[in-house]
Amino acid sequence: MIIKGGFVFDHRNHINGQVLDIRVEHGKISALRRQIKPEEGEKVIDAEGKYVIPGIVDMHCHLREPGGEHKETVKTGTSAAAKGGITTLLAMPNTNPALDNPHVLYRLQAAIRKESRIEVKVASAMTRNREGAEPVNFAQNKQAGYTAFSDDGDGVSDEKLLYEICYQAKNAGALLIEHPEDVFLSKKEPCSYGKIADILKTLGQSAESESLDILKFGTIAGSVGARAHFTHISTRKSVEAVRMLKRLYPGLITADTTPHHLRLSEDDNLLLDPNLKMHPPLRPEDDRIAVERAVIFGTIDAIATDHAPHSPEEKDAGFIKAPFGVIGFETALSVVFTHLVKQHRTSMLDMVKLMCANPAKILRLEEGGAIQETKRADITVFDPDKRWTVKPEGFISKSKNSAFLDKELWGSVRYTLYAGEIVYEA
Ligand SMILES: [Zn+2]
Repeated sequence: MIIKGGFVFDHRNHINGQVLDIRVEHGKISALRRQIKPEEGEKVIDAEGKYVIPGIVDMHCHLREPGGEHKETVKTGTSAAAKGGITTLLAMPNTNPALDNPHVLYRLQAAIRKESRIEVKVASAMTRNREGAEPVNFAQNKQAGYTAFSDDGDGVSDEKLLYEICYQAKNAGALLIEHPEDVFLSKKEPCSYGKIADILKTLGQSAESESLDILKFGTIAGSVGARAHFTHISTRKSVEAVRMLKRLYPGLITADTTPHHLRLSEDDNLLLDPNLKMHPPLRPEDDRIAVERAVIFGTIDAIATDHAPHSPEEKDAGFIKAPFGVIGFETALSVVFTHLVKQHRTSMLDMVKLMCANPAKILRLEEGGAIQETKRADITVFDPDKRWTVKPEGFISKSKNSAFLDKELWGSVRYTLYAGEIVYEA
């Protein structure tokens, strides 16, 4: 197969919009140059005027399997991801039962082999049953095939436990992904400090509930020499904390944020829509600006969806009672493209770095995140000129709890290829 005449963007190999053809054979990229002549009978994808980028690597999402199949499954989640141009994802372990040992992983991998047409990596919990009491067996779980470790949904804040986790992770060569939250400070309140907290006459989750956990976790990880990645960064104070830790512990600290924390602030939800309730919550505009600048200038390394499906019944419970979380697979690329590239905040190449190259690098993936000869053909063909409006009926995901409903976006995926197979076609 040949993908012909598109503008190719690849951060790893510094390809910045050159018109190139890509030949895909046996699941891999066999040639990448100008003007490849199709052989007789060879399939050709016409990519003229389109952007051809590596398949997106989403390092934070929830497939809800096992235990939450009414919200999402491996099958529906990975199909939705493919539609969003995602070819590799990392599924978080806050399932039921929690993913904390080899046996639950093997069972999930069997479902992945059967149902998924893209690459699914799985994160192990950091503590047994995600209870924040006893560390999992890091060496054994890494050996079994877990890609990273996270108690996502909760932060780990006990220093003694944290020290033991960091020590084990360092010895196993494992990546820790921390959901930065000090529960004593956040009290799991439904909103951030700021205007919505004022409306609800509560304190809301303070900025420090996030930054304190980053400073504590990062300091212990740094002192031990473990790699720590902070996910869904949402405040100015967190950005400053990450910036300082990166200076103190070079090579050990990385961070991501989500498309919704990049694009939306509490001002977008003064009417208290449960579909704009997530964890961490939407923050005041000053925090959003700090996150945006951190993305542009590289303090934040990656953008991840935190795709967190919930059924309409659960989200209909009203803002206070509804569960935290929004879906993101099918809108992430368009939201980031519209906000960053279309509005000239970053280049297309920088967007590819944030969504493909850097997450692949942080997860130390051998394949994915690049368009390169001899490598697996994970490719997304993106139409930058298509304008569309987000509608609930348009989602493949089992859940419709998007923070971007009725928003108009630029750009949409035409083709997604994983290992040389077309896994989505518009
Ligand atoms: Zn989280």
